[in-house]
Amino acid sequence: MINRLTIYGVGLIGGSLARALKAAGACGEIVGYGRSVAPLQRALELGVIDRYETDPGAAVRGSEVVLLGVPVGAVETVLHELRPHLGSDTIITDVGSTKGSVVAAAETVFGALPPRFIPGHPIAGTEQSGVEASFAELFRQRRVILTPTAQSDPAALATIRWMWQQTGAEVSEMSVAHHDEVLAATSHLPHLLAFTLVDTLARLEDHDDIFRFAAGGFRDFTRIASSSPQMWHDICLNNREALLKMVGRFSAELATLAAAIERGDGEAIRQTFERAKAARDSYCETHINQ
Ligand code: NAP
Repeated sequence: MINRLTIYGVGLIGGSLARALKAAGACGEIVGYGRSVAPLQRALELGVIDRYETDPGAAVRGSEVVLLGVPVGAVETVLHELRPHLGSDTIITDVGSTKGSVVAAAETVFGALPPRFIPGHPIAGTEQSGVEASFAELFRQRRVILTPTAQSDPAALATIRWMWQQTGAEVSEMSVAHHDEVLAATSHLPHLLAFTLVDTLARLEDHDDIFRFAAGGFRDFTRIASSSPQMWHDICLNNREALLKMVGRFSAELATLAAAIERGDGEAIRQTFERAKAARDSYCETHINQ
């Protein structure tokens, strides 16, 4: 059991983790901390946390684990704030969607990634934000990626792995760079496409009719464009290199398809769609409909 966990940023992810750990009886006490009191008070009322503090020293004192549940662009500032108050044996972890930037922020603040800082990323979420949207089952049968380094403390790593397993998640490990490349492809690019598609359509002259007659496919494809603009702004700027690589690759493929449409090359269009359908059907069979 984790004796005490402090969560800096009790939003969708931090709040869902708190709920899941409480449901599993995996944590003695959960302390909330953040930049504003109102959401922390709400988290307390909802029973997501046991108490909250308004002083960073009081927030982390005696905590075995301190978890950062803030947008990735805020990590460096938050670490600066917490640093003077962290004990030498405190385990630090985070849930940020980009890992290279979080490690870089830790290196800036501490000089090097502390061995007891275990970067993490639950591959689970919704387009909602805030503690009100949190729920205990969010991570059940979902994946959590940890990106420890050669210097990581094995006991700290084992604690964070155990913590996520208590939520029902399957925990994997990969390198920071590989994480950022994989997530650029599977999460960051799709969000960019959804935001851009909706923005493009919303700025067409006849956008009223376009949205009025949009059907299920449009709803499915664009659900993630309702995600937090601030969070995704931070992700784009903090995984720039890998994301731009994927944008370049995707733009080239889109241009190839557009050229096939222009010259009426039905065979090229059909082959692209058949490859895509086979890949998606296989993904669903292997990873979703198990
Ligand atoms: P959220 O519901 O909006 O919660 C964010 C939390 O961070 C709130 O407590 C918020 O405090 C606090 N915060 C925001 N900006 C801050 C700042 N500049 N300084 C200090 N605290 C700040 O967001 P979330 O969805 O839980 O996302 C949190 C982290 O999880 C992000 O790093 C994100 O990349 C990652 N993540 C998200 C998802 C997803 O699908 N949502 C999935 C996996 C990982 P206030 O209440 O005061 O605004």
